[in-house]
Amino acid sequence: MNNRKLMLGNEAIALGLVENKCAIVTSYPGTPASEILSSAASLQKAGNIQMHTQWAVNEKIAFEIAYTGSISSLRTAVSMKQVGLNVASDPLMSAAYMGTKGGFIIISADDPGPHSSQTEQDSRMMAMMAKIPVLDPDSPAQAREMVSMAYELSEEFGVPVMLRPSTRVCHSRQDIETSRIEPANCDENIKPDFQKDPARWAATPKFRYQLHKALEEKLAVIAKYEKTRPVRKNPGPVNSTAIVVSGVCAAHAEEILKDLELWDTLPLYQVIMPFPLHTDFISHLIDTYEEILVIEETTGIIEIQLRDRHRVKGKMNNIVPCVGELSPEKIEGLIRQTAGMTSSIAETKSVPGRRPTLCAGCPHRASFFAIKKAAPKGIYTSDIGCYTLGLNLGAVDTVLCMGAAVSQAAGFFHAYKNEAKKPDIVATIGDSTFFHSGIPALVDAVVQNIGFVLVILDNRTTAMTGSQPTPDTGLGASGEPLKRVNIESLVKGCGIEFCKTGNPYNLPDFTALVKEAVQYSRKNGPAVVISRYPCLLDRRQKHADPIPVRINENCDGCGYCIKHFECPALVMEQENQPVYIDPILCSRCGVCIHVCPKGSIEKKI
Ligand code: SF4
Ligand code: SF4
Repeated sequence: MNNRKLMLGNEAIALGLVENKCAIVTSYPGTPASEILSSAASLQKAGNIQMHTQWAVNEKIAFEIAYTGSISSLRTAVSMKQVGLNVASDPLMSAAYMGTKGGFIIISADDPGPHSSQTEQDSRMMAMMAKIPVLDPDSPAQAREMVSMAYELSEEFGVPVMLRPSTRVCHSRQDIETSRIEPANCDENIKPDFQKDPARWAATPKFRYQLHKALEEKLAVIAKYEKTRPVRKNPGPVNSTAIVVSGVCAAHAEEILKDLELWDTLPLYQVIMPFPLHTDFISHLIDTYEEILVIEETTGIIEIQLRDRHRVKGKMNNIVPCVGELSPEKIEGLIRQTAGMTSSIAETKSVPGRRPTLCAGCPHRASFFAIKKAAPKGIYTSDIGCYTLGLNLGAVDTVLCMGAAVSQAAGFFHAYKNEAKKPDIVATIGDSTFFHSGIPALVDAVVQNIGFVLVILDNRTTAMTGSQPTPDTGLGASGEPLKRVNIESLVKGCGIEFCKTGNPYNLPDFTALVKEAVQYSRKNGPAVVISRYPCLLDRRQKHADPIPVRINENCDGCGYCIKHFECPALVMEQENQPVYIDPILCSRCGVCIHVCPKGSIEKKI
């Protein structure tokens, strides 16, 4: 029987959780981490395993649920992307002091590059700040193995342990041996056992001081732990220079050294636990080598723990780039330089592509078009999600972080409130992001009577990260039915008096609705418009009947539809030439019929 499977890094991590008898896995979706929870949920469903899997409303809540499972003596895990760790940083810092009972893993997936994030931050830095050990896998297979290492470490020392895969680990595929899953085994140890100990679990500042001291002592011992000592990859070479790598850079460096025929020349060490850096390893490096090249993404975590930095070539002396992903080409350049090989290699040039845009027929495009019509001179605050692309349409002016569309709208209101001419303010936020962190900001806006319109772009899913459910979808991580929390009720419960729902595909009516909300907000305070139409990529949802469209002879190539609506299916090959509709891209939403001011787009009969 074939017990091997080509697996995504995130699937391999999920496999590691299941085979290590993890009883609770929670998450909030975010690339590159999203498939960890969905894969764990699939394994749980397929094997009927006794494991709770949950998409939480945000990362802080996901963290708190999983952590509480751990203090009930269960093995648990929470996964998120690196920016999500900021949201969970409050419980993260306290959990480290109070420690754990059952093994607890915080999986924070980093996005050097960044490919789909607001920041390039290094979660290992957060682990250092929280004073917890962090493991840095170089591949899907190692990420899976590190799950069991993390549980062992967590249980031996009673601390949370972070696993930090990066995008290239999460999203690469590797042939993985799968025969270790035995659902019966997965169930056998799941027995919660919370031992009351208020001095620890509800610690007052005096006890927290003692817990902090205990944590520092644990860290000193972990920094000598044999099982997480850095690995010498090529024991042979003797040289006055060594290379130290971690994470995916380790996999690249190994291949490059072999390709350059330097495998038997330059000693290569892989750090599997960048914090706390093994103390004997630090002494060994300093005692043995005159020059040490440290290659790691994204911050110099290993580098800053090496005492004698005069010998270190890294980010602090600008030899290793501090910004961006360390591609194999960049690492090869660094190794060649260190080995005295003069020929440089050219970094692969990225091919200029099309700028990212909303899908043809995306309901958000219609919402943005309506917002610009309703408040043409407005200030438009927005949020994290695919609708950030509304900036191409001139309908997004600011994007800071999850939920900030609402609080930034309040900030602009306060900034302009003493001016004679106040701008209209329209904020946009997705349904999932609204649940994540829009609600507290909306409560604040109600209390302060902020004059603005919040358009909740409700496409019935968390679209950007792969169509995960929201609390209004009424579905769980593996599709099981759950209770629903209705957005309208929630908005009204926050104290909003103007709350109306419209379908952005009915563009004239929807534009009129946003205009009404803008008028209301000028005199009365906050207004909410819920723009509801399901994401076109979500096949589970029911969509409207298609409306085929055609361009008629009135089109004079003025370009208005291209500039202001930018549907990728509307194509103008040469300036001032009539547009045509690309039948492959067109989703037949029919919205563009209302966009052309000359009536040149019409329903095809
Ligand atoms: S379809 Fe209408 S808006 Fe677009 S180029 Fe032709 S006339 Fe202009
Ligand atoms: S009908 Fe019009 S707006 Fe809709 S996808 Fe086709 S071209 Fe784009």
